[in-house]
Amino acid sequence: MRAPRNTGEVTDPVKRSSGSDTERLVLEVVRPAIRALSAYPVTPAHDRVKLDAMENPYSLPPALREEWLDVLRNAELNRYPDARAADLKEKLHTVFGISRDASILLGNGSDEIIQIIQTATGGPVLTPVPTFVMYETIAGFADAEFVGIPLDTGFGLDADAMLSAIRRHRPAVVFIAYPNNPTGNLFDEKVIRRIIDAANGLVVIDEAYHAFAKQSLMHCLEQYPNVVVMRTLSKLGLAGLRLGFAVGHPAWIGQFEKVRLPYNVGVLTQKSVEFALEHLDVFMRQTEEIKAERRRVHESLNEAGYDCFRSDANFILFRCRDHSAGEVFQSLLNGEVLIKNLSDAHPALAECLRVTIGTPSENDRFLAAIPGSASSR
Ligand SMILES: *Cc1c(COP(=O)(O)O)cnc(C)c1O
Repeated sequence: MRAPRNTGEVTDPVKRSSGSDTERLVLEVVRPAIRALSAYPVTPAHDRVKLDAMENPYSLPPALREEWLDVLRNAELNRYPDARAADLKEKLHTVFGISRDASILLGNGSDEIIQIIQTATGGPVLTPVPTFVMYETIAGFADAEFVGIPLDTGFGLDADAMLSAIRRHRPAVVFIAYPNNPTGNLFDEKVIRRIIDAANGLVVIDEAYHAFAKQSLMHCLEQYPNVVVMRTLSKLGLAGLRLGFAVGHPAWIGQFEKVRLPYNVGVLTQKSVEFALEHLDVFMRQTEEIKAERRRVHESLNEAGYDCFRSDANFILFRCRDHSAGEVFQSLLNGEVLIKNLSDAHPALAECLRVTIGTPSENDRFLAAIPGSASSR
């Protein structure tokens, strides 16, 4: 901590850290771009059914959990982790069929990958909006110009607007979430290709929901010099471990590696992810159950009088017709179910809520508590 200025005399430590002095100092020292941000809001779930954060509701089956603990028992906590995480990257190449011509960058979640890429490229940063908020938040960290181009009314990419914004702003990096969060849809690949062709800078395809979409633009890596693909294990069922990764030409990844802090992925995460990747089939079965439930929740919400948007992810965005989003959100809270109210997040999301798909019984509780549903009437 920096000492306050002009302290020639001994001051009472309580008084020295009193509100006004500290606040004045903070205003002086912290950059305006940071002061303008607000901390990422996380609503405490308490004992509610937690359907607000795109987590996989299933944990490891008990037998597998024992095997995993055996792996951790041998972890050397006194040593720094392998800074190159060679074993883990080897497994990622094999399990996800990642070309050996491409390199892999690991992050403490893909949030950190976004930060690494933006630290390396600077701005401007361009994305369609509404999309994942961290692209804009992290641009704020770096004082980088952020350009958000509205999606069309069906939440597709507005090709003309994107292309003309690229010509006008010449972004260092364009982020495209595929599928998009919070809308849940996959964008038209043809339009994405036009954006990649037009971009003078890097285009990052964020495939956080890949496991639920089964569609990928990883093949674009071989065709374009300016594409990097990002993935995460969070939505697949390992949100607590924090592992994200980016795949790209070694020339891109080599530059990003310089920005990555040396030991950003800890021993327990490396070992646990290696173990999980050996049992990917377990996670893929859970994914299939979540997708089956996604269909059921979608149909039930439509029957209850809500407008659901098509989702290729593990959540559904829906718009309220008969009640305000705020009323629906509160009714659900009263029923001990927490989802996400996006009504004020962006004008295109007016009266919209987002529910993460949970276990069948969690989804039942959600459907029972939502106004208008057969069971709540
Ligand atoms: C959840 C999410 C992320 C962040 O995932 P972490 O790996 O948990 O940091 C990145 N991109 C999108 C589009 C997401 O929805």
